[in-house]
Amino acid sequence: MHINDSDLHARFRAEVRAWLAEAVPAAFKGHSQGILGRQDNDHAKWAPLEDALASKGWSAAAYPKAYGGAELDVLQLVILMEEIARAGIPFRNEAAMHNIVPILLRYGTPEQKRRFIAPVLRREIRFSQGYSEPGAGSDLASLALKAEQAEGGFKITGQKIWSTMAHHADWLFVLARTDPQARPRQAGISFLLVERHAPGVEVRPLVTIDGFHHFNQIFFEGVYVPEGNLVGELNKGWTVAKALLGFERFNHTHANPALIDSTVADLKAMARSAGDGNGGAVWDDPELRRQVAAMEMDNDCIRFLRYRALTKVEHGETPGDETLVFKLLGTELMQRLVEAQLRVLGQLGTTWEAEPFGEKMWEVSRHTCNIRSATIRGGTSEVQRNVLAKRVLGLPDDGKGKLQAG
Ligand SMILES: Cc1cc2nc3c(=O)[nH]c(=O)nc-3n(C[C@H](O)[C@H](O)[C@H](O)COP(=O)(O)OP(=O)(O)OC[C@H]3O[C@@H](n4cnc5c(N)ncnc54)[C@H](O)[C@@H]3O)c2cc1C
Repeated sequence: MHINDSDLHARFRAEVRAWLAEAVPAAFKGHSQGILGRQDNDHAKWAPLEDALASKGWSAAAYPKAYGGAELDVLQLVILMEEIARAGIPFRNEAAMHNIVPILLRYGTPEQKRRFIAPVLRREIRFSQGYSEPGAGSDLASLALKAEQAEGGFKITGQKIWSTMAHHADWLFVLARTDPQARPRQAGISFLLVERHAPGVEVRPLVTIDGFHHFNQIFFEGVYVPEGNLVGELNKGWTVAKALLGFERFNHTHANPALIDSTVADLKAMARSAGDGNGGAVWDDPELRRQVAAMEMDNDCIRFLRYRALTKVEHGETPGDETLVFKLLGTELMQRLVEAQLRVLGQLGTTWEAEPFGEKMWEVSRHTCNIRSATIRGGTSEVQRNVLAKRVLGLPDDGKGKLQAG
């Protein structure tokens, strides 16, 4: 296992660090718990940051140069993500973009690639993901959105739910049932691109407990989708849906040790400055210090597991299913950390609009609500444990192979 960067990667890390220090305006840096800083969905506010990253090809770092990317390898990409987290630059809340581009690269027709990939990477076209339905999440194969054959295409009718950022999207990618009789159920599903403003599409907001509107329900009433918007083969959408970015497992936002480090540092700073009511600091509490030490050790476990997997990549091997553990460990650790921050803040951690309420506290209180979702999206912890039990530990299968919605 290599713990240190190779010379080549050390040079790349130094280049990234120096560039972020020089070229990214201070206002975009120094944010803790990166992901939360972008929940405002204020695209204009963040555009200078995105433009700066795009000028290096780093807003589409893994993608081909032909589409405006930088063609970084997995290790460079991980370094970039680590350095962005270390600088406290919030990540973009646009997971759907990172899902649709690799799908189109692998399964898209030449016309679909031409039409969508570069504009998506330039943020001129935004996609939202329509996999989940009220009756289909962990068990995605039970989805019911109906796509019937129509003149030159399909008519779709039904509902999606939990579609992140659908209200800002120009397009949706959806899984729809094109053959209701097919068995197994996975065999009758197709992957379609749908214009968000097409007649018959209605997006309704769902406001979450953190006060933000990032979720939506989407209703489809006889929406016409031309056959040119079918991605992959008819009734083979399950294969498309399962396509995953190889590096996604390394880069789940909450499984980034550098991001967790910065959250631990915030927790310590808060505990040192918060009074314990007896003339001392909250940080004097030995139980809190024990908990922080345990969390730091858990983060080191994630860090070293990543090094092990990345060393395999460096040697041309494919890391195994053990990388599934990153998301599980990272999200659960982040929840423990944010809960510890909340305990340190005490009463101040229970609201977010009153004075004297600093930005950090605002982040903690909203993040406490928001972080609950981290162990649901992208595969719930329970289902992740099932998959790990089956594929990594070799425990008996319950016979229900599951693919979760996103
Ligand atoms: C922040 C966030 C963003 C999301 N964004 C999107 C998006 O953009 N597009 C989209 O399509 N979807 C999105 N989702 C939906 C997400 O994919 C689903 O919430 C997830 O797949 C779980 O499905 P569900 O909510 O229907 O819960 P269910 O599948 O109904 O699960 C309910 C509970 O039962 C447990 N459970 C289910 N099956 C098993 C099993 N076999 N063994 C043990 N326990 C089990 C689960 O772990 C969970 O605790 C998002 C969700 C969140 C929280």
